[in-house]
Amino acid sequence: MAAYIRVDREKCVGCGMCAGTCAQNAITIENAVAVIDQNACVLCRICLDSCPLSALSLVTEEKKENDLSQHSGIWVFAESRSGAPIDVALELIGKARELADRRGTDVTALIFGSDAHNHVLSLIAGGADRVFVGTDKMFDDLLDLPYAETICHLIEEHKPEAVLFGATPFGRSLAPRVAARLGCGLTADCTVLDIDRENGLLLQTRPAFGGNLMATITCPGRRPQMATVRPGIFAMPEPDPSRRGEMTEIDFMPRESAVRLISRTAAEARESISDARIIVSAGRGIGSQKNMKLIYELAGLLGASVGVSRPLVDLGWADHSHQIGQTGLSVAPDLLITFGISGAVQHLAGIGGAKKIIAVNTDPEAPIFSAAHYKVVADARDVLRELIAKLK
Ligand SMILES: Cc1cc2nc3c(=O)[nH]c(=O)nc-3n(C[C@H](O)[C@H](O)[C@H](O)COP(=O)(O)OP(=O)(O)OC[C@H]3O[C@@H](n4cnc5c(N)ncnc54)[C@H](O)[C@@H]3O)c2cc1C
Repeated sequence: MAAYIRVDREKCVGCGMCAGTCAQNAITIENAVAVIDQNACVLCRICLDSCPLSALSLVTEEKKENDLSQHSGIWVFAESRSGAPIDVALELIGKARELADRRGTDVTALIFGSDAHNHVLSLIAGGADRVFVGTDKMFDDLLDLPYAETICHLIEEHKPEAVLFGATPFGRSLAPRVAARLGCGLTADCTVLDIDRENGLLLQTRPAFGGNLMATITCPGRRPQMATVRPGIFAMPEPDPSRRGEMTEIDFMPRESAVRLISRTAAEARESISDARIIVSAGRGIGSQKNMKLIYELAGLLGASVGVSRPLVDLGWADHSHQIGQTGLSVAPDLLITFGISGAVQHLAGIGGAKKIIAVNTDPEAPIFSAAHYKVVADARDVLRELIAKLK
């Protein structure tokens, strides 16, 4: 469906009430009639209620199926901080490369920020064939409106088959804006991505129905297909410095944003388990809160961070910032050691990026063992005590 705000010229008297309410400055009064700038309008619909004459209405219309054959290539929005791509951007480029190779197409990365030039080579080494670079200073502030307008312009001009975003706070805000403007679908928080080699259908798998089943979602009628993926779900690609690619400067200038960044306040720095290289993780099988001491002691000896399954957060044994899984954080450490975690599907959704997993569980059939590289069928407390003694 495509949607837009329509002005009934018979009813409108150009009073300007609607223009006064529009936060996007998308309404002007010309010749005593309201005129909507459809590119600036974000369909918030506040103007509809502001009109005393009901001259404004929301029109939705079925978009014609677009010509799928015109679309090709897989794009990744490479979100950056101070110009440098964040980890999830590279993880997505690695996955996009894999999908593109299967489909026989290419990978394009989009990077923005005044320092972005300096990071093009790392995107190419990670798997991109082409990088679009937007270096205007305005992109240094992560504001949805100029980003969305620029990305939509590029998508309309170059017609990619699929576009991937990291499910970061910014990606989660930007991707739906882009999808809504283009009249496309969007699958949020995918945990698995695959592609149909023949027809290019992106197979977007994510937990559904409260995480009780995994649903694979496809978008057969519209392009581009769009998905967000949380950080740490896919492995970081091994950089290949010998790869060659092209860089294209973005020559499109978005309108001045109706939203301005006035000031920035740094949040209290707290190391996130998402970035940890080693994680010692506890589940209900550790038995009691006092055994968390053993978990922290082992973590201290290994220089590791502590992760937990959700019941431990519910029991108040750990803070939510330590929770791994679908409703917690995704992690991608080099080494993850789990103690007394069963391996429910919602927990496994957060550990797909871990490179080596050692699982300790008394139940030889525990599902965590299907994800583990080393399986220890034993009492978690015994293994913890023994490891601590050995390391000491
Ligand atoms: C919508 C939704 C979202 C969810 N999100 C998350 C999430 O983000 N993260 C998450 O973790 N869960 C999540 N859950 C909960 C999830 O379904 C499981 O209930 C949870 O992961 C189980 O945690 P656990 O493995 O610690 O406990 P249990 O399932 O109780 O497993 C305990 C394990 O410990 C083993 N064990 C028992 N005693 C010992 C011992 N002495 N030594 C060694 N092993 C022992 C048992 O064999 C068992 O395998 C979610 C659920 C829903 C419905």
